[in-house]
Amino acid sequence: MVFDLDVLQVEERVAFLLGLASGVDVPDRASRDVTALWRDYRRFVGLSDGSIDALPGIKMEGGGLSKVRAAVRGRHVALLYGMQAFARLHLKQFIAGEELSATVQGPVTFRLGAETESISFKGNAVEVFIARMVLVLGEVPRNSLAACPECGTFFRRVRRQIYCRPQCTDRATWRNYPAKKKRAARAKQYEKHGWALGARSGRQVPRHK
Ligand SMILES: [Zn+2]
Repeated sequence: MVFDLDVLQVEERVAFLLGLASGVDVPDRASRDVTALWRDYRRFVGLSDGSIDALPGIKMEGGGLSKVRAAVRGRHVALLYGMQAFARLHLKQFIAGEELSATVQGPVTFRLGAETESISFKGNAVEVFIARMVLVLGEVPRNSLAACPECGTFFRRVRRQIYCRPQCTDRATWRNYPAKKKRAARAKQYEKHGWALGARSGRQVPRHK
């Protein structure tokens, strides 16, 4: 397969990377989700929308279409899980300001057209993924991506945002709250709601006499 590595549609590609890195582990996803992920992967690397099952290393053998589909799915899961691991690792390195590199083995062609420049090369699916990832990240300021210290989600950062969502901010704020203030806040909650909130809510202590 030949991959054209233009660097258009950076935003869409960054969104795919963040989603892949932050999402559920690929082997734990439903079959339908893996198919969708594979389609998104093809868009990410820049493969034209051909047959979803077109993948190197898959031979049609006896046993019917379902057997072939199962084999294709197994291979998609293995490849995508490998890419997910690379996405997590490279995003972490990128955010930490470390160097990223991609190596491809096949012949590489640089093309300069009237209005476009492109690089294309032959390679396997994972090599292509990493090469595309490095090129896309090269278009993004490093401080615009972050990993949430509370839940590990990778996200596009707005200004000096630290946590990925308000729930993570609240959780961290509560944990870093001084013990004395926590006690005061809990006492206030108890006065208002009794045991109706929090860990002891199952005990059904009567709230009103
Ligand atoms: Zn978070």
